Amino acid sequence: MQEEPHRRPTPPFHAVTAVHDGPAADAGEWERLVERERLARAEAEQRAREEKALREAVLAIGASLTTEEVIHQIASGAMETTSAVGALVTWVHAREDEVEVVSVAGKVPPPCPRFRHEGSYTEKVAARGEPILIRRLADFDGPLWSDEVLRDHADWSVLVVPLASPQQPIGALFLLREPGVAPSTPDEVARSSAFGQLAALALRKVDLLEEAQKRSAALERLSKSRTRLMRGFSHDLKNPLGAADGYAQLLEEGILGEMAPKQKESVQRIRRSIHTCLRLIQDLLELARAEAGQLEVERIPTDVAAVAREVAEDFRAQATGRGLALQDDIRDPLRTDTDPMRVRQVLANLVSNAVKYTAEGTVSVTGESGAGSAPIAGDWLCVRVTDTGPGIPADKQEQIFQEFTRLDSSEKDGAGVGLAISRKIAQLLGGEITVESEVGRGSTFTFWLPRTGE
Ligand code: ADP
Repeated sequence: MQEEPHRRPTPPFHAVTAVHDGPAADAGEWERLVERERLARAEAEQRAREEKALREAVLAIGASLTTEEVIHQIASGAMETTSAVGALVTWVHAREDEVEVVSVAGKVPPPCPRFRHEGSYTEKVAARGEPILIRRLADFDGPLWSDEVLRDHADWSVLVVPLASPQQPIGALFLLREPGVAPSTPDEVARSSAFGQLAALALRKVDLLEEAQKRSAALERLSKSRTRLMRGFSHDLKNPLGAADGYAQLLEEGILGEMAPKQKESVQRIRRSIHTCLRLIQDLLELARAEAGQLEVERIPTDVAAVAREVAEDFRAQATGRGLALQDDIRDPLRTDTDPMRVRQVLANLVSNAVKYTAEGTVSVTGESGAGSAPIAGDWLCVRVTDTGPGIPADKQEQIFQEFTRLDSSEKDGAGVGLAISRKIAQLLGGEITVESEVGRGSTFTFWLPRTGE
């Protein structure tokens, strides 16, 4: 601390009026006044230093990101913000009903490293919710220090501050003073208590943070192993199914000898089932690729309207076969730089769903382009696939975009991954897929794409 330059302070007014005993009494009074002012100033400076240290300690605690860091900051910060010579932090292991000494800073009589929570001062301050001041360690009756240590440090004082969040006791902070140093003032007790509450909140925060990090790491591991499994499994199925289809094709085409019409029909059924399985496997592989961030898209000048017309044409026979009208009303070109194969894949999925889930009525494919009021920024174009099918309840309209989600569709082909892949592709192309639907009236799926160039 910088020494104050020696100057005669101006005496307070009552001191001047009290001077009446001549020069000697005047000098004595004067010295007492100077001393009083010096003490008051030193105290004010000490308080300012402690408050500054408190602010810095609270900031350091708030910025700490791990439990160890916070605990360390509590012990060192507490020492700097009070007149304590040593600080110790205990931590409650609630499940084992034990308390551990987790940090020690400065001068601290050697503690027991771990002891029972029940009956300890860590428990007592948590129950009381405010600090406890023990003026002589000789009166300390907890398991933190052995009898011998307590005897050797009988004249030390300790302030025990609870570290507790509203949910649970976390631990306690012990602030120690040597013999001859006045025990904590009420002001310091109040400040330490506030410090303890802030420290407990910071501990709770990092606890939640660490928990969240652990969970997200576990989720990532799980997702990686799921992707690996899906990939391996799909490849293992794809090859034997491909071989089975090859032999079935030889039979169907009569290369291995002519078959009776009924036999041929059965082989055709077998092949249709194989193709359904192969499509599902293809979807699973796509999903695994998308999850691994390995879906690739290209951007070339494309007329999305032409792609949409082709897709509608591809499904016309299937729709007619199911007694549905398939209208494609998409005449004007919708040009943009995008990936025509991926656009086809997404639209095929939307039209295939519309045809698959609609029992009667119409499936229509329309297109539009514009600017503003779309889920993507800037100029856009879109293709809408509308059906008169069962509709999708409002609370399920986001869920169906999650993989393996199917609504009451067990009797239809599918694995519940088509929309998940389609949305991932749409987003990769800078676009989006949205749905509007009403139960009993039908659904409209809209595939939005950014419009680039002209
Ligand atoms: P899949 O069709 O293989 O089940 P999708 O991811 O394409 O998988 O679709 C997920 C679910 O969304 C479907 O199982 C179905 O319940 C619902 N769904 C999709 N499209 C429609 C539609 N046009 N009408 C009604 N429900 C639909």
